[in-house]
Amino acid sequence: MERMKVAFFEVDEWQRDYLRRSFPDASYDDGPLTAANAASYADAEIVAVRTYTNVDDALLAVLPSLKLLLSMTTGTDHVDLDACKRRALPVCNVTGYSDAAVAEHVFALLLAIAKNILPSAVKAHEDAGFRRRLQGFELKGKTFGIVGCGAIGLQAARIANGFGMKVIVYDIVHHDDWASENNFSYVPLDELLAKADAVTLHVPLNRHTRGLIGKEAFTKMKTGAVLLNTSRGEVVDTEALLAALEPGKLKGAGLDVLDGENFIADHDLSEAERRLCALPNVVVTPHNAYNSVEALTRRLDSTVANVRAFSENGAPGLKDRVA
Ligand code: NAD
Repeated sequence: MERMKVAFFEVDEWQRDYLRRSFPDASYDDGPLTAANAASYADAEIVAVRTYTNVDDALLAVLPSLKLLLSMTTGTDHVDLDACKRRALPVCNVTGYSDAAVAEHVFALLLAIAKNILPSAVKAHEDAGFRRRLQGFELKGKTFGIVGCGAIGLQAARIANGFGMKVIVYDIVHHDDWASENNFSYVPLDELLAKADAVTLHVPLNRHTRGLIGKEAFTKMKTGAVLLNTSRGEVVDTEALLAALEPGKLKGAGLDVLDGENFIADHDLSEAERRLCALPNVVVTPHNAYNSVEALTRRLDSTVANVRAFSENGAPGLKDRVA
C-alpha cells in the first residue's frame, strides 16, 4: 500500500525523535491541531493528537483527506466521537499504557498529604517546634475508596493492598474475579463516600461523571478524608471542593487535573483554583501522572503499531478502536 501522509501533534522533541525512527517523512508539531493551523495539514490522512486538540465538527471539516484519527490518550473527552462516527472516521485511543504511572502518582499525592511532605521539605532546616504541625497519618488500616475501577483503578487497588489498606470500589461495571483476586468489595457510591479515608477518582469524563463529586458528595464524605483526582478536572466541582477544604471537612486533596485545563495551553487559573492551590493541604501536579518514560514509550509504540496496521490493512487491523 502506498505510504500514507501522517501528522503527529503535541509531541515534544524526545517523542518526535522516537517516532521519526518509524516515520521519517511524517509531519511533527509540538502544539495542538487547531482550526487555525489545520489548513497546513489538509492532505493529512492519519492524524495523531493528545488532549489539547479539541476534535469537533469544525476541525474535521477542514481536514478533507483524513482517514484515521489517533488520540494518544486514554480519555477521549476532547474528541466528538459522534461527529467522527457521522463521517465514518475511525478513531483509536491508547488503553492501559499508563496504569502503573497514574496509580503510582495517586500514592505520591496521597503520601505527600499523609506525610506533609511539601511543608516538611520547606521546614526541614527550621527548629523542631514545627514537628507537631507536620504530624501525619498512616495509610495502613485506612479505607481506600476507588471511584471507577478500570485499568488504573485496579492498579491503585493493588498498591493499596500493599499498604495494608481496606479497598472499596464504586463502578457501574462489576468484575467479581477482580474483586476476589484483589481483596476489594463493590459498594454503592454513597457508602464509599461515607466510609473511605481516601477517595480516588478514575472514571472517564462524560455526561454522567461531569460534576460527580460536587456539594452533595462532599457532604456525604467522611470528615478528615482526602480526595485524589487524576482522572479529569471536570469530574470535581472546584467551588464545592474549596467549600469542603476551607473549613477542614476534608483533610486534603491531591489533584493532577483541574477543571477546564484541556483546551488552555498555559492554563490560566480561575480565582477558585488559585485559592485551591494556595491551601497548604492541597497538592497540585500539572496533569503529569502519565508522564513516565515507560508509559510514554508504550503509548508511542501503540501509536506506531496502529499507523502501520492501518497503512497495511485498513481499519480491521486497528487496536483500541473507540469509533
Ligand atoms: P478504564 O476505561 O479502564 O476505566 C474506567 C472505569 O470507570 C471503568 O471500570 C468504567 O466501568 C468506570 N466508569 C465509567 N463510567 C462510570 C460512572 N458513571 N460511574 C462509575 N464508574 C464508571 O480507564 P482507565 O485507563 O482506568 O482511565 C480512567 C481515566 O483516567 C481516563 O478516562 C482518563 O480521563 C484518566 N487518565 C488520566 C491520566 C493522567 O495523566 N492524569 C492518564 C491516563 C488516564
